[in-house]
Amino acid sequence: MERPNAWKDYGKKELTKVTEIGEEYRDLLSRCKTEREWTKEIIQRLEAKGYFSLESAIREGRKIVPGDRVYEARMGKAVLSFHIGQESLEKGMNIVGAHIDSPRLDLKQNPLYEDSDLAFGDTHYYGGIKKYQWVARPLAIHGVVAKKDGTVLEITIGERDEDPVVGISDLLIHLAGDQMGKKLSEGVSGEDLDLILAGQPLKGEEKDAVKASLLHILKDQYGMEEEDFLSAELEVVPAGKARDFGLDRSMILGYGHDDRVCAYAELKAIETMDETPRVTCCGMFVDKEEIGSVGATGMRANYLENAVAEILNLMGTYSELQVRRTLQNSRMLSCDVSAGYDPLYASAFEKKNAAYLGRGVCFNKFTGSRGKSGSNDANAEFIGKLRKIMDENKVHWQTAELGKVDVGGGGTIAYICALYGMEVIDSGVAVLSMHAPAEIISKADLYEAVKAYHAFMLNA
Ligand code: MN
Ligand code: MN
Repeated sequence: MERPNAWKDYGKKELTKVTEIGEEYRDLLSRCKTEREWTKEIIQRLEAKGYFSLESAIREGRKIVPGDRVYEARMGKAVLSFHIGQESLEKGMNIVGAHIDSPRLDLKQNPLYEDSDLAFGDTHYYGGIKKYQWVARPLAIHGVVAKKDGTVLEITIGERDEDPVVGISDLLIHLAGDQMGKKLSEGVSGEDLDLILAGQPLKGEEKDAVKASLLHILKDQYGMEEEDFLSAELEVVPAGKARDFGLDRSMILGYGHDDRVCAYAELKAIETMDETPRVTCCGMFVDKEEIGSVGATGMRANYLENAVAEILNLMGTYSELQVRRTLQNSRMLSCDVSAGYDPLYASAFEKKNAAYLGRGVCFNKFTGSRGKSGSNDANAEFIGKLRKIMDENKVHWQTAELGKVDVGGGGTIAYICALYGMEVIDSGVAVLSMHAPAEIISKADLYEAVKAYHAFMLNA
């Protein structure tokens, strides 16, 4: 039952492809670090492949026909893509869906304060993080500031070589006796994740002179007032580029593999679909998974349903029943990362049912915790069909659970899409150090994910 390592089977040609895809992904991961940046990039690449926006089609009353490529963007933070197939939509779609948000620190709405001649930016973390991992490391700020007049400033600080970076201090080891004795979860508190933003007082200013100087910089360089933080989304993320990892360059170390590695694999698979598919292929790139898929851009919002209704309408076959049939008859890969087996923390895993780096794309029949609670639990018949598709298309794949029984757990968007009655299973790339500021994946698993998603869209 042990699954083979993909690397062992690669010939020269495949190794070249693995490297090329790895490099393209590494570059994208270095440039795009927020759901907004990923949305922009995805739309740009879809448009280059002939996709047009659903919004423009509705406005122009454009008829949608088989072969058309349509995308729907939601508030600059989520995207759906549809490659309309030959068969009628009510037969169901082949859907691949990943999330493009990642754990991070968000600047608070009233973030600035000065203490002891340093100016700070207060944060509130987003998603599941080990707080101690975010101190004493270079951080960057990516995001937007929406002004009262409707203009939106885009801000990126800390990525170019000439940029300054920001960061959070840690207590020196010499004085850390108390801190080191605490539980790991209590050594650094959430409220103490405050960024140091400046340290030079403004000349002639009496009170809060460093903050005053910082406000001048914000005004001069970024055109913003302190009050503009009220309507800003500024995300604090690890600064710097993703890197090849290991002397053999077989892996990639970077911020946000969860779940951009699956989002990228999806995008790559969508881009390489040249012919009109038999059934409609849908790609989903969604926001807010890390905080429970909430909000208007999270999977729990109804935009998939709405987009399907609009498309059916422009195809001239809309009815409530058609929408329901389209969704219920669909098949989906919920593309999300899996916990890679880590020999250094072997006790958290059950070896027979763990995902191993390099053994290909990973299928999780269920996720959840404490007796599969909160999971989707895919149907055996659906998995049987997937085994055939994967094997016939020479995809390296493995199956896994998220750790040992009762050790922990987690969720994805799978259970939300299953609400429509469609077949869904979790399928993704194994990650080491998941949710850490620098996560690790194998290039072979990324390559196999691209192959798997492509094969699924054409054959499911
Ligand atoms: Mn995820
Ligand atoms: Mn996650």
